[in-house]
Amino acid sequence: MALIIGLTGGIGSGKSALAERLVARGAALVDTDAIAHDITRPGGAAIEPLRAAFGSAAISADGALDRGWMRRRAFTNRAAKATLESIVHPLIRTEVERQILAANESSAPYVVIAVPLLVESGIWRERVDRVLVVDCSEATQIARVRERPGLTEAMAHAILEMQAGRDERLAAAQDIVFNEGSLTDLDDHAQRLHHFYCGIRATA
Ligand code: ADP
Repeated sequence: MALIIGLTGGIGSGKSALAERLVARGAALVDTDAIAHDITRPGGAAIEPLRAAFGSAAISADGALDRGWMRRRAFTNRAAKATLESIVHPLIRTEVERQILAANESSAPYVVIAVPLLVESGIWRERVDRVLVVDCSEATQIARVRERPGLTEAMAHAILEMQAGRDERLAAAQDIVFNEGSLTDLDDHAQRLHHFYCGIRATA
């Protein structure tokens, strides 16, 4: 079985940028955000259960989940959030397991599961061998996500408020990348981590 790394970090910390660099070196990536997106596309596995639970208002005319509607609903209503999660989480886990099996069949030396809320959700911590946290200052997070289309600074602050704080995340980590420098520095971090993870696999 491949070594499984859980990659997490706050919004804008550089998770995607680091994942990309590990994949370029041969890691297999299981991206839970991409899976969540896939299952809520038109015809995705979550669509009919979501329609049954929330009614047709939850589904856009094109057959995809109406993300804006769902976000507003889940943000203001705990029961709605719990229902949403009870539908979506098991489907995500099933797909994650399928992708881990596929990675085990491949030549990838280890698997990186990217989970933005790994520390907050708890369930993933038991599934991974090591937790890798990408960390940077909140000011840097905000500066990075401000460039994202459709995301205002106020929204970025609201997301930061909802996510675990840096200390809590760092306390859950076995491996930490401080991503406050340049992208070249991040390349160096990725290279070191890659060697480290390949070494763990070799001695396991
Ligand atoms: P996350 O996936 O954690 O939300 P991203 O990897 O998408 O964050 O990074 C957010 C933005 O910041 C992206 O545009 C990315 O290219 C940029 N970025 C990440 N790390 C650095 C860095 N060390 N230097 C400059 N830009 C960076």
